[in-house]
Amino acid sequence: MKRDFDLVVVGGAMAGAGVAALAAADARTQGMRIALLEPKPATAPGPGEPLDLRVSALSHASRQLLATTGSWAAVEARGAAAYQRMVIWEERGDPAGGDALVFDAAELGEPDLGCIAENRAVQAALTESAAGHGVVLLRAGLATVTAGSDAIRIATDDGREYRAGLVVGADGAGSAVRTQAGIDVRATDYGQRAVVTHLRPEHPHADTAYQRFLDTGPLALLPLADGQVSLVWSTTPELADELLRADEAQFSGRVTVASAGVLGRLEAAAPRASFPLRLLHARRYAAERIALVGDAAHTVHPLAGQGINLAFLDAAALVDVLGDALAAGDDPGELRVLRRYERWRRAEALPAIALLDGLQRLFSGGDELKSRLRRGGLGLVQSARPVKRLLMQRALGIAGEVPASLRRAPS
Ligand SMILES: Cc1cc2nc3c(=O)[nH]c(=O)nc-3n(C[C@H](O)[C@H](O)[C@H](O)COP(=O)(O)OP(=O)(O)OC[C@H]3O[C@@H](n4cnc5c(N)ncnc54)[C@H](O)[C@@H]3O)c2cc1C
Repeated sequence: MKRDFDLVVVGGAMAGAGVAALAAADARTQGMRIALLEPKPATAPGPGEPLDLRVSALSHASRQLLATTGSWAAVEARGAAAYQRMVIWEERGDPAGGDALVFDAAELGEPDLGCIAENRAVQAALTESAAGHGVVLLRAGLATVTAGSDAIRIATDDGREYRAGLVVGADGAGSAVRTQAGIDVRATDYGQRAVVTHLRPEHPHADTAYQRFLDTGPLALLPLADGQVSLVWSTTPELADELLRADEAQFSGRVTVASAGVLGRLEAAAPRASFPLRLLHARRYAAERIALVGDAAHTVHPLAGQGINLAFLDAAALVDVLGDALAAGDDPGELRVLRRYERWRRAEALPAIALLDGLQRLFSGGDELKSRLRRGGLGLVQSARPVKRLLMQRALGIAGEVPASLRRAPS
C-alpha cells in the first residue's frame, strides 16, 4: 500500500511537537516523511505579550531536547528562568526548619535545577522547528485510525485520508489514538483541581521554587523571570471553586496564608484557571503501527512537575528506537520494533508514576500520625545525601536510561 507519510504524529502540543521536531532534526531519522496533525496549533507569543498562565518546570533533559531541535532560543527569549533551589515542607512544618527538604543546585554540583518555561512558547517553538525541518503541518483532528499489516490509515475530521507507516498518539489524556487502538488504562481520579495563576510576591523569590504540602493538597510557587511567581495550588474542587470566585483581595489573603507567608504577601497578578487532576497510565505504550507518548501514555499529578519531562524522554527514546530500526533496515512501524520503545519507557516511567502516586497519597489527609510521618520523611531525605542526589538526578532527567539525543557530553 502506498504511504503518504512514514510517520504521522497525532496531537501537536508540547509532546507531539517534540516528537515531530526531534525526529525531523535527528540525523538517524531525518529521511522520514513526517506529518503533525493538530486542530489547534500554538501561535508564537508576540513580544510584550504577558506570560501565559501555563508554565512548566523543565528538567535538564527537556532543555536539551529544546536545544537539539533549535527551539531553545525562542523559549529563552520568552523569559524561561533557571531556578537554583527548591524548598519543600509540610503544613505543620517550617520552611526554614530541619524537617524541610531543600534541593540546592550548588550542593548537587549542577548549574541550576532546571527552568520554568511558558508552555505556549515551547509548543510554538517546537512546531516551528518541525516545520523548518520539513514536517507537514496538518490543521485537523483525528477521526479514525485503522492499522493494517503494511500501513495505517488515518481519517481526519475535515474528510481527508492518509496512509502512514506509523502513528504516534500524542493527543493527551483523552487520547483517541489510544482508545481506537483498544489500549486500556489504569485511572484514578484524585478528586482535586489545580488552581493556577501568577502572583507578585512581597519578597524576592531568589530563584527558589517552594512547595508546601497542605492536608488538602500541595501548593507550589515557581519563580518567573519577571520576579513574579506561578502558583499551582492542588486542592479540593470546593476550595478551587471558592478560590476562582474570590475577589483579588480575598484571593491574595488566602494564598498568602496558605503559603505560610514564605514570600511575604502575595498579590494577584493575572487571571485564574483550574484543571482537574487524575492519574492515568496506559497498560501498553505500543500496538501495531501505533506508539503513545506524553499524557496519552501517562498523566501524572503535577506535584513534582514531571508530566512534560516524562513526555520529552518518551519522544527521544522513540526517536532512538526508530533510528536503530531504520539503520537495521527494519520497518519502524512493526510491533516488534515498537515493543522495544514500550519496554524502555514503561520501565522508566513506572517507578516515577508509583513514586508520584505514593507521594500524593502520603501527603494528603490531615491525621496527626500521617503528618508526623511526612515531616519525618522529608527530614530523613534531607539528611540522606545519596538518596537526595538520586531523586534530584531522576527529576533532572540525567539518571536512568537517558536517550542518546538527550545525553550530556562527557565533562
Ligand atoms: C496545573 C498543571 C501544572 C503542570 N506543571 C508541570 C510542570 O511544571 N512540569 C511538567 O513537566 N509537567 C507539568 N504538568 C503536566 C504537563 O502540563 C502535561 O504532562 C503536558 O502538558 C502534556 O502534554 P501532551 O502534549 O502530552 O498533552 P496535551 O497538552 O494534553 O496535548 C494534547 C494535544 O492533542 C491535541 N488533540 C486532542 N485530540 C486530538 C485529535 N483527535 N486529533 C488531533 N489532535 C488532538 C490537542 O489539541 C492538544 O494540542 C502540569 C500539569 C498541570 C495540569
